Amino acid sequence: MSSSRRNTSRCPVTDPRGTTTIGSLDPLPTQGIRGGFAENGLPLARLADGLVGSVIDSSTSLLAGIEHDVVRFAMGAPAPEAIPVQALRELAGGALDAGSFTYGASEGEPGLLAAIADGYADTRGTSAERVVITSGGMQGLDLACKLFIDPGDLVVVESPTYTNGSATALSYGAELLEIPIDDSGMVIDELVEQVAASGRTPKLIYTICNFQNPSGVTLSAERRQRLLELAHRWGAVILDDDPYGLLRFVGDDLPGFAELSPGDPHVFSVRTFSKVLAPGLRVGWVDADHRLRPLLISAKQAMDTCTNVPNQHLIDGFLRGGGLQEHLTGLRDTYRLRRDALLRSLAAHLGDRVRSTVPEGGMFCWVTLLGDGAVSAHELFEVALGRGVAFIPGPALSPSGRFGDALRICYATEDPGRIDVGVRRLAAALDELEAR
Ligand code: PMP
Repeated sequence: MSSSRRNTSRCPVTDPRGTTTIGSLDPLPTQGIRGGFAENGLPLARLADGLVGSVIDSSTSLLAGIEHDVVRFAMGAPAPEAIPVQALRELAGGALDAGSFTYGASEGEPGLLAAIADGYADTRGTSAERVVITSGGMQGLDLACKLFIDPGDLVVVESPTYTNGSATALSYGAELLEIPIDDSGMVIDELVEQVAASGRTPKLIYTICNFQNPSGVTLSAERRQRLLELAHRWGAVILDDDPYGLLRFVGDDLPGFAELSPGDPHVFSVRTFSKVLAPGLRVGWVDADHRLRPLLISAKQAMDTCTNVPNQHLIDGFLRGGGLQEHLTGLRDTYRLRRDALLRSLAAHLGDRVRSTVPEGGMFCWVTLLGDGAVSAHELFEVALGRGVAFIPGPALSPSGRFGDALRICYATEDPGRIDVGVRRLAAALDELEAR
């Protein structure tokens, strides 16, 4: 069994002009802290050992401290100009009243709950009694793990995966089983084999089925069906994390787990407004079996009482005004053009030195360095940053630090001209490393 607890990537970053360390792409160090407290007689919890920081998040502060121009392929954030700032500003005045500034209902503001149930957020087949509003998608993942994971439980994750999500499972004491993906998503035969080899049954199967973070690939309809069958056979829950599903710019939508198996208690869906509207609002929701709702609400009450009320009112106003549809149309066009630009630039400047996935939506390409493996993604990161381009090295997207030869490139943030500049800088960095 290949289970893992920690991301082992290490990447100190030095100033391009000298050898001064300007920061690190590593997550905050946590190892050994608990032991240090124990020596002083302080009772830090055993589960504190499961806390793993995020390289993706640490890249934000690292890049903020850099003075030279950097092409931003690192964060999975909407382009600043793709956030409808003016519309939200105009709405804010009308959407906010005295009631917006006091505690709200733990399950979410009635208006936003109803808007989601009525389909204004463009998700199909839900109803108000299945929905609880959360503080972003991350809180949805946390709630799912809180409800389903006991220390030592087996949790399936895709390899590579969104490591903030796998870190949530680790924080509840999960053991991870990392299952490879191909262009059709998680390889189900491999899942069956690895589970059999482990001699255990998983509790939770964590999948990002549409335009996966970090690879951009989509789980095929046939594999979705097989995953549902396996979840039933194992008595497991599919943790269906889908922040990007509304961002399809090529081809037809595939049926989601909830459509394939309506009302299925084995499906726990996590949604967010972060990628389709604005991540800073920190509003998302979970869509799960209605019998779980009291537990979800109690967990929220013990965690944050309620989700940010003004932001829920703002989003409610935006949805009911029909803003989301128009906004999504623009986003999809923008991201299609940017994906095309990235693929074109990769072909022009890196040619057969790399291979990229070709996503049909979302924000990410997964780019693998071909060749003899002499250059690692971490080395490339450091040199590339000096030359003014940033991405996330593959090992940061694997709980066990695999994919030393891969790069996550987010094409959503920069326009096509800047994307080309970024890829040229990447190619120059690779040239430099290969000439050493
Ligand atoms: N899941 C995935 C797959 C994501 O990519 C993200 C954001 N990067 C999240 C969850 C978290 O979303 P939020 O910012 O709404 O917490």
